[in-house]
Amino acid sequence: MARQIDSTTRDALLARIRFYRDLGMTEFYRRPVSEELLAQLAAEPVAPQSSGAPDLASETRETKSQPDEPQTLRAPSLPLVSAERAESHETQPPSDYQPYDSQEDHAIPPRKPIQAAPQIGVEVPAAQRAAALELIREEIGDCTRCALHTGRHKIVFGDGDAAARLLFVGEGPGADEDAQGIPFVGKAGQLLNNMINAMGLKREQVYIANVVKCRPPANRTPEPDEGNTCSQFLFRQIDVVRPEVIVALGATAATYLLGVRQPLAGLRGRVHAFRGSKLIITYHPAYLLRDPRQKKEAWADLQIAMRELGLKPPKKG
Ligand code: URA
Repeated sequence: MARQIDSTTRDALLARIRFYRDLGMTEFYRRPVSEELLAQLAAEPVAPQSSGAPDLASETRETKSQPDEPQTLRAPSLPLVSAERAESHETQPPSDYQPYDSQEDHAIPPRKPIQAAPQIGVEVPAAQRAAALELIREEIGDCTRCALHTGRHKIVFGDGDAAARLLFVGEGPGADEDAQGIPFVGKAGQLLNNMINAMGLKREQVYIANVVKCRPPANRTPEPDEGNTCSQFLFRQIDVVRPEVIVALGATAATYLLGVRQPLAGLRGRVHAFRGSKLIITYHPAYLLRDPRQKKEAWADLQIAMRELGLKPPKKG
């Protein structure tokens, strides 16, 4: 009897298989996934979508119900947030999504580096980090410190585990994030979720924030005064979370964390230091959406992060 799968499940499976294949992880499956198999899978009979069927289009829903759910962490210190909180990510991206150009190094305006204070102050106990982050959020208030406030709908503060061992830094909110007030919820966010899952983690186990908290008009790169003003709050968030590893997504994040602008190519593939954390630099997911061939390179960078965290990729099969 032919296997019946609904179209949403099929699309989610295909996307997942393609993603792992792009990463060079074909051995993750029992045998390499060929174009023929993908075509065959796409041609499978499609069951009509019933209203009660699980919606796997969103990556967060997929991780809840798929059999290839990420492995549990070997290190026990990455508590999950409540299911209620995870629910808040379950949204569909609007169709007018415009990907970033943040990998274009030349797109970053020259900036006068502001030396980030190397002093990271008193360590906040893990149990109090969420409250400490909330205080920073309150201090930001209804911010008018730079011109970006004029066009924003929501301030995108940050998301995830306040005591995470791994923290991702992006550039700035896009249209979806501006509408929802949560970082990385659009297409680039779906890819970031996939990257996190490929590391054997769930999104709720990491912390995610951006250099700027308000959407730059037309997704342009933040101007130096915008980035310099807003990144001071990012640095304070990092001081509270105290992640063991930070992954900078793209050239803008790398520039503001390192304090200097350098071509991304020379920064990738090694471990830097930032405010007591190990810093790894990789491509922005929006760039990977435009040039999926670079996913292998990004995966190599993520493997450096995994090595530093003592993580193993999810088990085969
Ligand atoms: N790109 C970013 O850099 N940050 C987001 O939150 C979303 C897209």
